[in-house]
Amino acid sequence: MALKRALIFLGPPGAGKGTQAKRVAQRYGVLHLSTGDMLRDAVARGTKIGQLAKPIMERGELVPDDIVLAMVEERLSRPDCADGFVFDGFPRTLPQAQRLDEILERRGWGKPLVIDFEVPAEVLIRRLSGRWMCSVGGEIYNVLDHPPKKIGFCDVDGGKLYQRPDDQPAVVKDRLVAYERQTRPLAEYYRKRGVLNVVDASARMEEVDRALAAILSRAEG
Ligand SMILES: [Zn+2]
Repeated sequence: MALKRALIFLGPPGAGKGTQAKRVAQRYGVLHLSTGDMLRDAVARGTKIGQLAKPIMERGELVPDDIVLAMVEERLSRPDCADGFVFDGFPRTLPQAQRLDEILERRGWGKPLVIDFEVPAEVLIRRLSGRWMCSVGGEIYNVLDHPPKKIGFCDVDGGKLYQRPDDQPAVVKDRLVAYERQTRPLAEYYRKRGVLNVVDASARMEEVDRALAAILSRAEG
């Protein structure tokens, strides 16, 4: 079954929207689109956009909206997008959302179907800051639901576990605050357009799946 819709997944870091986007892409035959992947691909292929973006990315700066949106519009014109697509991690700001809406309108997709994966901040902090990584093989553990047998060491190769700087509680809080400030207004914008669906992403995986399937089957009809 082809969904033939423009999907946008919103949600804070740790809400699991990337995993869900990949599953939905597979299940509904839509393309999974990440602007980060697109930019890296454009740079690797040396396209015009890639040439513009490369020095900016090498300086570690954010690629301006004009470049990203031109790239998105070009990407959506390719045949593999014809059955629909799901954006994961884009748009991030209100101006990006407004301009993406113009592109979708112009290309005949109409309004997007937006799904906001909501998770209470305290749950996210627990999820993200409980994450430890193996310094040898990169295995990921979580003190909550996947603890190592021996605290501080990898089950597979005995490597010492460490916490990525991004996952340290103070940094996690900063990331969530930044997300709230920048991306929360998007949910409001889409709500006003009547296209926002909220999924409780703190629920168990099967329940998240069920809620998502219900939304998507209504969209198919
Ligand atoms: Zn390991």
